[in-house]
Amino acid sequence: MKKYLIALDAGTTSVRAMLYDIAENRFILTARQEVGQSFPQNGWVEQDADEIYYKAAYVLNRCVSSAGAEHIAGIGLANQRETVVLWDRDSGEPVAPAIVWQCRRTSAFCASVPKEMREKIARKTGLPVDAYFSASKIKWILENVPAARALMQKGRLCAGTVDSYLIFKLTGQFVTDRTNASRTMLFNIHTLDWDDELLDYFNIPREILPEVKSCTAVMGEVPLGGHNIPLAGVAGDQQAALFGQACLTEGEGKITYGTGLFLLFHTGERCIASQSGLISTIGYSIGDKTVYALEGSSFNAGSCVQWLRDGLGMLSESAESEQIAESVKDTGGVRFVPAFTGLGAPHWNSDARGLLSGITRGTTKAHIVRAVLESIAYGARELADCMQRDSGIALREIKCDGGASANGFLMQFQADVLGIAVNRPIERESTALGAAFLAGIALGIFGEGEIAGFRQAETVFRPSRDRARFEEWYREYQTAVRRALLT
Ligand code: ADP
Repeated sequence: MKKYLIALDAGTTSVRAMLYDIAENRFILTARQEVGQSFPQNGWVEQDADEIYYKAAYVLNRCVSSAGAEHIAGIGLANQRETVVLWDRDSGEPVAPAIVWQCRRTSAFCASVPKEMREKIARKTGLPVDAYFSASKIKWILENVPAARALMQKGRLCAGTVDSYLIFKLTGQFVTDRTNASRTMLFNIHTLDWDDELLDYFNIPREILPEVKSCTAVMGEVPLGGHNIPLAGVAGDQQAALFGQACLTEGEGKITYGTGLFLLFHTGERCIASQSGLISTIGYSIGDKTVYALEGSSFNAGSCVQWLRDGLGMLSESAESEQIAESVKDTGGVRFVPAFTGLGAPHWNSDARGLLSGITRGTTKAHIVRAVLESIAYGARELADCMQRDSGIALREIKCDGGASANGFLMQFQADVLGIAVNRPIERESTALGAAFLAGIALGIFGEGEIAGFRQAETVFRPSRDRARFEEWYREYQTAVRRALLT
């Protein structure tokens, strides 16, 4: 049997290929390349799709030359979501810069979508109408780039997310997977097909979109090192992380504590419509089976710690926040609301701004640092409450990853404020692990049932018995949020 799988992780700021040793169940090599972004106008964010491809090919080659192509069973792919690329089917050349998920250029159009259409879009796609998702970005390129229209008339135009562009360039196949499709706002997450009514509304012909396959499909073959290596196993990054964390049954969830915070909650084979403005999305699909998830995010998590470090100069490094927070038994009544750029779910207020309340003459740096870390956990609690209310499903355990999950104080506090265990794995590269697991299943190397056994817990943070204290603090936080919403 072949020894390795490669997980290709095409993120927003870098592209990485990680060599996964199947028998050892661990990554043994990472090749990484930074990817540039450009900001041609206020609120616009673009990337060079060609650069993403060349760097992906480069890191893949680094893994292949190190391991030997003959030892590689296949490549799994996880990628930044929603970003769009339009390209020429004959030459493979992009017709315009990729429009990145953060780009706000289509927000005026999105704001003009009538209420009835918004409701229809939410019902069919699980998404609120927003410039973040792919549909309005594709529409923008079709309307503003003459070369795109010319190619469309010749039947040569391809439009897709980063996964489909990379798969096309690497294998020649024009395909995507269901999780990536579910972020375009053109994909009906119930019928699992592009939705003709939405395609009409955005004026996007079906012919320019890729074929949608299961996450565990074999997408094509990549010629590398004299071998044809199957590219099999694809998911958007957050969904790949859900799978890599082995959240495989209803009621399991994962939180990624990066710059922002992403909570994905497995709702089984039922698609739950959120009453709180959260996103319903495809969690993953294995063969014909599709499972759904609710997704919520806070814009600010690790960024708050960065602010303590770089903005206030209170920390010399992010990790120091743990010991400083632990040096006090509580925040001394200080509450922090991290609304640097407004508040997302469930408040949806872009005008709100951050707030530090309850300051007295006795307040110290440690109280403030602790209040900031606590606020990250309270934000996740708000999302978790919405998800449980919307779905009627109890959250059983949180699996954590991302840079700030290294903070033991934060993880323990999260367990206390959620009242459930927070389980931190040894391997925190959940996204890459998800891509490797999906590839392994796609290629028949292991079955879905084996995945849970591959995940190894490092620490399980269990909630303390003193629930009342944390509930009281959480209520104080909610009061502070109400104040922030008044600003
Ligand atoms: P991203 O992928 O969004 O760039 P990462 O997962 O690399 O983010 O996490 C980086 C973030 O985590 C930074 O904002 C950093 O301040 C924060 N961070 C890293 N280590 C710690 C720590 N020990 N305690 C608190 N925050 C941390």
